[in-house]
Amino acid sequence: MASKNTQPLQGMEDIGGPEVYLWQSLEDTARRIFHLYGFSEIRTPIPERTGIFTHTIGDATDIVQKEMYTFEDRGGRSVTLRPEGTAGVVRYLMGLGQEARDARLYYMGPMYRAERPQAGRKRQFHQCGVEMVGDANYLADAECIALQLHLLEEWGLTDCNLLINTRGERGESEQIADELRNLLQPRKGELCDDCQRRLDSNVLRILDCKRRECQKVVDSLPPLTELMKADSREYFERLRATLKELGVDATVDPRLVRGLDYYAHTVWEITHPALGAQDALAGGGRYEIESGKNSLAGVGFAMGMERVLMALKSVGVEPDENEAASDVWLVSMGERALKANMALEQDLRYKGIACNMDLHGRSMKAQMRAANRSGARKVVIRGDDEIERDILVLKDMVSGEQFEVDSKSLMDRLLT
Ligand code: AMP
Repeated sequence: MASKNTQPLQGMEDIGGPEVYLWQSLEDTARRIFHLYGFSEIRTPIPERTGIFTHTIGDATDIVQKEMYTFEDRGGRSVTLRPEGTAGVVRYLMGLGQEARDARLYYMGPMYRAERPQAGRKRQFHQCGVEMVGDANYLADAECIALQLHLLEEWGLTDCNLLINTRGERGESEQIADELRNLLQPRKGELCDDCQRRLDSNVLRILDCKRRECQKVVDSLPPLTELMKADSREYFERLRATLKELGVDATVDPRLVRGLDYYAHTVWEITHPALGAQDALAGGGRYEIESGKNSLAGVGFAMGMERVLMALKSVGVEPDENEAASDVWLVSMGERALKANMALEQDLRYKGIACNMDLHGRSMKAQMRAANRSGARKVVIRGDDEIERDILVLKDMVSGEQFEVDSKSLMDRLLT
């Protein structure tokens, strides 16, 4: 029985066993696809100064208000474990100044949010995302979305739904928020407690509140696009046309706003039917972020890897139990054979053959059992007698055949 001492913190998971090979294969595929689109990797630190997130994500957002893992470091500085990837990457890019123009970066790694754990909602989860620097350009937004769907397809997820919307230019967000507030104020009493608070602090979020009473109010509002300037609407229409030209199906969801303050123009979400209540596989959007005298515009997305894995399981993708198998298992009877096998093992590994053996001098039976468990397709057996005769016994674990080979031809046999 696992005791509390052997468990990770609540909402966090160890990833090992056959499952980890599935993670690695998803990561390998992601790297390959990102390369096709001209992206390179950036690894930013997991802890950042708290201000990086409060400033970039926005003080009034759920993440900043309720979900950050924030603590004082030994120097009394406020530090936060990253709840998302964009803020750190943008900090890095701002440091590059002009060099960051047109940068295309991707990241993969753990994120931290102190949420109530449930299926598809963890406190440590993993995201794989990209950031594409550049001023508002619907072609870049379309390319970013196309890249994301390409990657999902390569992973084996073809039945995803893409929902898109626009938040209008950054400059008009205050005016849109004011108009929404005016429309909602008379119906404040019908909204849930959270949304009553959001009316002042983050009125856009009321649009995507999941509570029925709020949805009823929201359904009576005009779509966001009607509150926007013609330029913003045109940007969005051009994006939709470009997506069509690229063969990407997109459904407009006029209530989609996404949680973070930094978005401007395009926002999107990708859902998967197998995910139930937490059905968002991924989110993305265009942003403009200011910090002191610096500002940075770009477009990006983040995919939740745990949810990608859940969706993959629903379409029948399971971890491969044999992924970890060695090619060859070496069985040694006696001290001399153990030493000789150890040298052989090293030789084989240098030649690129994955092999393994028991180092504890266990019985032949125990070693054969271990060989079986390892999934190795070939087993090499030797004891004193074989050493004297300069031969080895080779057993094919698939056919069950067993025969003697001389040490010189062993390698050829193992490589076939
Ligand atoms: P967000 O920036 O919140 O839209 O997150 C992007 C993606 O990360 C979501 O679509 C989810 O797939 C994933 N995600 C966000 N929060 C969690 C969480 N607490 N646990 C697992 N996955 C998450």
